[in-house]
Amino acid sequence: MGSGQVTDSSVPFEFQGKHVTVAGLGVSGVPAAKVLHGLGARVTVVNDGADERARAQAAELEALGITVRLGDGDTLPDGTELIVTAPGWKPTKPLFTAAGQAGVPVWGDVELAWRLRRPDSAPWLAVTGTNGKTTTVQMLASILKAAGLRTAAVGNIGVSLLDAVTGDEEYDVLAVELSSYQLHWAPSLRAHSAAVLNLAPDHLDWHGSMEAYAADKGRIYEGNHVACVYNVADKATEDLVREADVEEGCRAIGFTLGSPAPSQLGVVDGILVDRAFVENRHKNAQELAEVSDVNPPAPHNIANALAAAALARAFGVPAAAVRDGLRAFTPDAHRIAHVADVDGVAYVDDSKATNTHATEASLAAYESIVWIAGGLAKGATFDELVAGAAKRLRGAVLIGADRALIREALARHAPEVPVVDLDRTDTGAMLQAVQEARRLARPGDTVLLAPACASMDMFTNYNQRGDAFARAVRELGA
Ligand code: ADP
Repeated sequence: MGSGQVTDSSVPFEFQGKHVTVAGLGVSGVPAAKVLHGLGARVTVVNDGADERARAQAAELEALGITVRLGDGDTLPDGTELIVTAPGWKPTKPLFTAAGQAGVPVWGDVELAWRLRRPDSAPWLAVTGTNGKTTTVQMLASILKAAGLRTAAVGNIGVSLLDAVTGDEEYDVLAVELSSYQLHWAPSLRAHSAAVLNLAPDHLDWHGSMEAYAADKGRIYEGNHVACVYNVADKATEDLVREADVEEGCRAIGFTLGSPAPSQLGVVDGILVDRAFVENRHKNAQELAEVSDVNPPAPHNIANALAAAALARAFGVPAAAVRDGLRAFTPDAHRIAHVADVDGVAYVDDSKATNTHATEASLAAYESIVWIAGGLAKGATFDELVAGAAKRLRGAVLIGADRALIREALARHAPEVPVVDLDRTDTGAMLQAVQEARRLARPGDTVLLAPACASMDMFTNYNQRGDAFARAVRELGA
């Protein structure tokens, strides 16, 4: 195999008989191993863990004739010509050091999907950002559907990217959510158009630095054909557009909650307007939808709607479809989901607010809040978040491993706010947190679960954390 075959995406990669190592079982590794095996590659899967789930997945693959090595994800199998890795595997892992020394290329799941596209396959409209990816991609798919296009929201949710490009279903265009990890491992991806919604410190332990994180996010703009969509309020996203190497004629399109300049989408008197994809944009603007068509119409979500609209308009979608698609959209669970009102207090589940940037947006959406927060901080600090929200906090209930960091920030910036610190991580902890929050709340307040932290210290994932919150709220009302 010439190494040109692996690095040059314009040459179809020949998998027949090639030694491919798949790094990591799980949601991306198992389907990748099967597809590669089906293409005639000699597949070895390596996996760090050897728990029950891994053993079951290994048995399923071994039955197909695929080799699986459990409990050793760090040794490069002899003869490996290509690694296809799960996106979450850190670039500093010894497996990748060994691959680098041996000159073996590493692809992620997105790179694999990109390489396996059929020549006439659907173009990608891609979305990344620290927060709002899933929501924006779903809004985009809803808009594209309203325009009569065959499409799907792919990535973390719904259809997997690999299924979308290798399955039988035909698409006109795909709305693709991409994480910073996936972008890191996808060097040859070239989207029709792409958006970076925002950039705030997250996953820095994985990327190593804010610069490396931003650079990986910025890869989404590389080679764009029609539009690079950026957030006017977040200069870092515009900087990434400037640094990107794009196709001739590709445009930089901004979105803003303010009045849009030419080549931007924005908001004027409660109307979402387009001054980018209109004839004579220096004089004209096209009305797309009303702010009240966006669900929920919180500022950060209007920004998501504008980004989705920009990508859809870049693909040539008419204005009416933007409005119809936004109206048809309902947000996923655990994203500012109203659970119930109990004794005049609203209980809202934003368990998906797993970092300070998302939590800042969610705290900004309510006037008087009893805030339930805490979990795994992933290296974050909380001073700015707490200082910005201090005036709106009726009280705080802290849970989870890193709650002391939030408690200390509250002591520094909001010393008069009452704080309940829950020193327990068992399954009953969320019920107690909600009961404590109820004691602190007054009629008209919002009890908001927006933890600013990951959930894995106490829960399997943010879904389970949000479900525990909703259950506890229902117990209050019972
Ligand atoms: P992602 O897929 O990037 O994690 P989601 O759409 O699932 O994004 O939303 C994640 C969290 O971020 C939610 O808690 C939501 O309230 C918040 N959020 C959504 N959009 C934005 C935005 N544009 N800016 C800041 N926070 C946001």
